[in-house]
Amino acid sequence: MTKEAVNATVPVPLLDLKAQYVPLRDEIHAAMDRVIESQHFILGPEVEALEREVAAYSQCRYGIGVSSGTDALLVALMAIDLQPGDEVITTPYTFFATAGCVARLGGRSVFVDIDPLTYNIDPASIEAAITPRTKAILPVYLYGQMADMDPIMEIARRHNLIVIEDAAQAIGAEYKGQRAGSIGQLGCLSFFPSKNLGGFGDGGMVVTNDPALADKVKLLRGHGARPKYHHKLVGGNFRLDALQAAVLRVKLKYLDGWTAARQRNAACYRQLFAEAGVEVGLPHDAGYGRHIYNQFVIRSERRDALMVYLKDHQIGTEVYYPVPMHMQECFANLNHDVGDFPASEFAAFETLAIPIYPELTTDMLKIVVDVIAGFYR
Ligand SMILES: *Cc1c(COP(=O)(O)O)cnc(C)c1O
Repeated sequence: MTKEAVNATVPVPLLDLKAQYVPLRDEIHAAMDRVIESQHFILGPEVEALEREVAAYSQCRYGIGVSSGTDALLVALMAIDLQPGDEVITTPYTFFATAGCVARLGGRSVFVDIDPLTYNIDPASIEAAITPRTKAILPVYLYGQMADMDPIMEIARRHNLIVIEDAAQAIGAEYKGQRAGSIGQLGCLSFFPSKNLGGFGDGGMVVTNDPALADKVKLLRGHGARPKYHHKLVGGNFRLDALQAAVLRVKLKYLDGWTAARQRNAACYRQLFAEAGVEVGLPHDAGYGRHIYNQFVIRSERRDALMVYLKDHQIGTEVYYPVPMHMQECFANLNHDVGDFPASEFAAFETLAIPIYPELTTDMLKIVVDVIAGFYR
């Protein structure tokens, strides 16, 4: 078989959750059976154990299991008492939930452009965006690499602002030895199936080192009731299921191994792309800590054509994200124009993710690089 023929016949998906599930099948089924036999489906001992384990993993004293990463952000913003008209400084180059949760509470997202190398919020542009209405800074750790947090925390301290970390893509990532979620006042994690620690459905967690904020998030998660039917605050139903917690507790034991495999895959890609002399932009490792590679995002001036080519050759690919937040129809009220955040707009035009999941074999990585090299030839 020629090389072209191999490329045309071996599909490489963007993610293969079944490859992760199959070796853990017995262990996961036993954990789920435990919950089913107990018939305790909401919160309870499984959720509490997961909260302790994920909090410890994230170098935090407290973890509060919630219904999704989106609800983690929403309840964190409720816990800091975000009021209508309050401003939150964040990045326009993120998943919708970041800015969506601010808007749902009547707050205003004040966007600051990204660092074009890391795709994370550029700390150098934050201070100019602060106004008397600024309440918080909400950095997002895109693709599994943390933002440059020292300058962000220094600005926050100087202006008395709260920092909420959107760590949905970054569980276990580190910045100078500090884990994602442990630096700001609150950290938000997602257990969406495609995240590095993914459940069998939706789930999330708020982590914090602040006992008062932990208590408030816990209260808000259950309609603000304490005791039952006596409502101190207007909260919501943001609870995590015991079945999800049981699955996640099994998977958490393997997370470091999976992260190491993602890092090996990333290193292998770098070597293969260098050997092939392919002209794509590779992810920039900022060098300040542990990158967990939730995604491996490359850059090409001919992105759209490359995507079509990859799909034709059965290589999984996706754009995270094609439309920055300031250009979303639902945020027209923020009065932004094309050109307001050029680094975010360029990234939205030029980037695409290729497969990086832990179970990929070296042969599969080679196929991906061969196909991309074929595109450039
Ligand atoms: C996945 C994600 C979320 C939302 O998490 P869900 O669990 O899907 O609600 C928020 N922010 C970012 C950056 C994400 O990647």
